[in-house]
Amino acid sequence: TDDAPTSGATDDGPTVPAFDELGLRPELVRALTALGYEEPTPIQAESIPPMLAGRDLLGQAATGTGKTAAFALPLLQRLHPGADADEPVALVLVPTRELAMQVSEAIHRYGREMGARVLPIFGGQPIGRQLSALRRGVDVVVATPGRAIDHINRGTLPLGSVEVVVLDEADEMLDMGFAEDIEAILTETPPTRQTVLFSASMPARINAIAKR
Ligand code: AMP
Repeated sequence: TDDAPTSGATDDGPTVPAFDELGLRPELVRALTALGYEEPTPIQAESIPPMLAGRDLLGQAATGTGKTAAFALPLLQRLHPGADADEPVALVLVPTRELAMQVSEAIHRYGREMGARVLPIFGGQPIGRQLSALRRGVDVVVATPGRAIDHINRGTLPLGSVEVVVLDEADEMLDMGFAEDIEAILTETPPTRQTVLFSASMPARINAIAKR
């Protein structure tokens, strides 16, 4: 795409592991090849292996570095395609509706061959459509915190099967006053979940939430 990030390596630079060497399943590697991604960006090379190993992760990366794929690919690797579990296995929280649409579109593209069902949930969109999609069953929910809380209060967003939570652009979410909502949402997810936080900056208040 026009805004493809520059990779950390050049032809004579340090060797970057290929996507398949990072341990991603073949369906995902094929999707990346089809999209023309030749090699992982630095944030992808650093984030994917520990995320695949199930570790919690704190990533500092700005937009344009490939951070979406850095968390989306390991998250998709966890899905159990074909299993008829209908509750989301992954929850991604983002600050704005634009980002919710963009991130859910990206996850959909990477996970198409796996049959991943991805639902964006944000305010300003009729809740009815979100409700029927949730009833049909979804694997990944990409939500803004406010609308996620609405659904939790209505009892329409089951989070008891969530295995991984991603806080994307966490600094933005805190700036927008979502700290309490995020805490409340996390309480609804199993304590055994994997938690991943991405932020462009790491001010002290990010450290505080990351420690918790
Ligand atoms: P992001 O930082 O996640 O917003 O990604 C920025 C852009 O880089 C998006 O258009 C992605 O499709 C693209 N992109 C992400 N990873 C790669 C990669 N490894 N190779 C080429 N393009 C990529």
